Amino acid sequence: MIGLEIHCQLTKLESKLFCTCKANYREFEPNTNICPTCMGMPGTLPRLNKKAVEKATMIAMALNCHTPQRLGFFRKNYFYPDLPKNFQITQLNMYGPTSIGDQGKVSVEGKEIRIRRIQLEEDPGRLIYEGASEKTAITLVDYNRAGTPLVEIVTEPDFDSPRQVRIFLNVLSDLLQNLDVSDPTLEGAMRADANVSVQGGPRVEVKNIGSFHDLEKAIHFEMTRQQSLKERGIEISQETRHWDDKRKITISSRSKEEDEDYRYILEGDIPWVVMDNSSIETWKKKMPESISSKKERYITKYGIPSQVADVLSSDKYYSDLFEQAHNEANAKEIANLITTDMMGLVDTREKREQSKLIPRHLADLIDMVNSGKVTRSSAKNALVEIVKSGKSVSEIISSTGMAKISDESELGRIIDDIILQEGVAVQQAGENPQTINYLVGKVMQKTNGKADPAITLKIFKEKIGI
Ligand SMILES: [Zn+2]
Repeated sequence: MIGLEIHCQLTKLESKLFCTCKANYREFEPNTNICPTCMGMPGTLPRLNKKAVEKATMIAMALNCHTPQRLGFFRKNYFYPDLPKNFQITQLNMYGPTSIGDQGKVSVEGKEIRIRRIQLEEDPGRLIYEGASEKTAITLVDYNRAGTPLVEIVTEPDFDSPRQVRIFLNVLSDLLQNLDVSDPTLEGAMRADANVSVQGGPRVEVKNIGSFHDLEKAIHFEMTRQQSLKERGIEISQETRHWDDKRKITISSRSKEEDEDYRYILEGDIPWVVMDNSSIETWKKKMPESISSKKERYITKYGIPSQVADVLSSDKYYSDLFEQAHNEANAKEIANLITTDMMGLVDTREKREQSKLIPRHLADLIDMVNSGKVTRSSAKNALVEIVKSGKSVSEIISSTGMAKISDESELGRIIDDIILQEGVAVQQAGENPQTINYLVGKVMQKTNGKADPAITLKIFKEKIGI
């Protein structure tokens, strides 16, 4: 059995959870995005970021959690250099449900994964280890991240396999993007620890996992390790293990804090926060359309194939483009353009940031294709240019000579050349009509995709006499 603890940064927020320092700590020189409050100076008081409560509640709602009547915050005490206050302000359901959400559920490929609890808390600072050997090793600390808003999602141990975990994390990552609360593609924005046990054995916590890819490996390793111990009659101890990124194994870690060790106490500096119904209703109304509802709409309203609708709806970048570019008539073609030709051009965060493409480009391109000015194949080439330069579609078509060739005499000359070069194929075309597609392909190749495929086919048939 596998359970997860996932930490998601609310990267779309303006400020930290309890002060006005920036939530986007990544742009700062080390230790410049700090203030007396997030440094835990004596006499400072935390002020709860209302937007953080709103965004975290939206996550809880999207994961079908209950929203509590009131929110409570607790101090989790531990002594470590990444924590200037020596305690982290977090949430706990010690006096009934007072964390952002609880008892949620989400379906992953037909399997229901229960969400035990969602809590809002502050991220600690970052420790940076430099130097390779024992002698030169130094640890640097950067408090820019200290106090930034974090949502922790704790699942029940409902996963059966590492694969299911990966799919769940992808679903969750898409969901967070769709809610526009977090950008999970940012380094460190979404991190997960796993609890692994086999057949009623004790629970082993695996921490320090750098990527989702490694998480899958770490869980797999841990399941195999425990299974093997069990088969040999060796007792499995309840412990915390760290993932060793280099050796790709889990190793026992000395720290074995239990909940008692953290000496949780109610955070007296933050009074109970009453969750009034009107705020909750307002937030509910602000919830964006869910991914599954988008998908359903794309299929039923526009007749977009299920697989295409799936890709389009689960990626907010694509669905936003689609929503702004399409109309009743061109929806299917826009969807197709995005999920085929555009994919490779904007498949990473860097490419998306650099891309100059706007929704208007897509609509204009499809117009050009539909009015016969360019071929579908040229549209694909034009996209490459658009993403790079952001120039208008008409500008690119005219400046790069991408206009469709539908002039019969011009095409006729090109086809004559191909007929001369491809004697064998021409002969075969008489017997096997499929071969003619190969010949049309040759013309497309020669014209960089600019030849009108229908007219080309017609001329070929006339010339070969089939
Ligand atoms: Zn601060």
